[in-house]
Amino acid sequence: TLLFVLPMLTIFANYNYILSASVSAGRIFSILDEKPDIVDRPGAVELKPVKGHVVFKDVNFSYVSGRQILKNNSFEALPGQKIGLCGPTGAGKSTIINILTRYYDIDSGIIEIDGQNIYDVKQESLRKQIGVVLQEPFLFSDTVMNNLKYGRDGASEDECTAVAKDANCHEFITRLPKGYDTILSDGGSNLSQGQRQLLTIARAMIADPRILILDEATSNVDTRTEKNIQAALRKLQEGRTSFVIAHRLSTIKDAHKILVINQGEIVERGTHDEMMAAKGFYYDLYMSQFKGRVSEILSE
Ligand code: ATP
Repeated sequence: TLLFVLPMLTIFANYNYILSASVSAGRIFSILDEKPDIVDRPGAVELKPVKGHVVFKDVNFSYVSGRQILKNNSFEALPGQKIGLCGPTGAGKSTIINILTRYYDIDSGIIEIDGQNIYDVKQESLRKQIGVVLQEPFLFSDTVMNNLKYGRDGASEDECTAVAKDANCHEFITRLPKGYDTILSDGGSNLSQGQRQLLTIARAMIADPRILILDEATSNVDTRTEKNIQAALRKLQEGRTSFVIAHRLSTIKDAHKILVINQGEIVERGTHDEMMAAKGFYYDLYMSQFKGRVSEILSE
């Protein structure tokens, strides 16, 4: 499971990213970070603005000593690439994200972003440059506009409206009782799940990070909303390095690179087509999902 609990307001509180506009990210962290055990090194520096080149070199990790979770993970994501992460439940997909965002320190190996070792930089500056959109959208009990502005300090209303249009939000927002001034009660209970997801995607666009983490964001939504969400996600990913945790392999078919994780190891990697042709682990995963889906449809 992904570890982004409330601490991640910066990055997105309870399962959704997004930087604060009116409250500084640093303050949010100090209020909400439940994992103070990860401390910046003495002399840690700001992560310089990155292009999104991510490298894992022989990374080993265990949550508790004696039970190794990730084993010798090495991979590279070039700026702008979409990297799919797949594999059975418990394989270690979320763990890779938890250590990239440095919610845990690794046992050995190196993680670099644009050549900067993430252990040498301030956590806050690292997390500011990584956006996350996860299954359970997080919204503040505030107006729609303020929720969008949380994306980035200083985002203007015009910019937020333009991005909302781009992210297929504008139409439903203008239909709300007070449009952009409508207050989202209880973090958005007056919106549908799909609308909440669209809003958090828009907010991530406003934050404009170079690196994105996406957990499959479409469940329990109607087909039209799902299409809107997929389109908005595609726009969001343009030009950014994205790590997509796939529960349905169809969401990563177009990835530049797919990493297949099993029991903490990268057991296969390549594009969808390459691995389908290789008829290995990925092929088996894909076929089993496909068969599952067909029998679901037949029984509907
Ligand atoms: P899923 O698809 O079910 O979300 P995943 O591939 O993302 O699974 P992870 O959540 O990364 O899997 O879990 C990998 C392993 O690490 C599992 O064996 C899990 O039990 C273990 N694990 C995850 N979080 C913790 C934690 N906080 N403390 C100890 N062990 C953990």
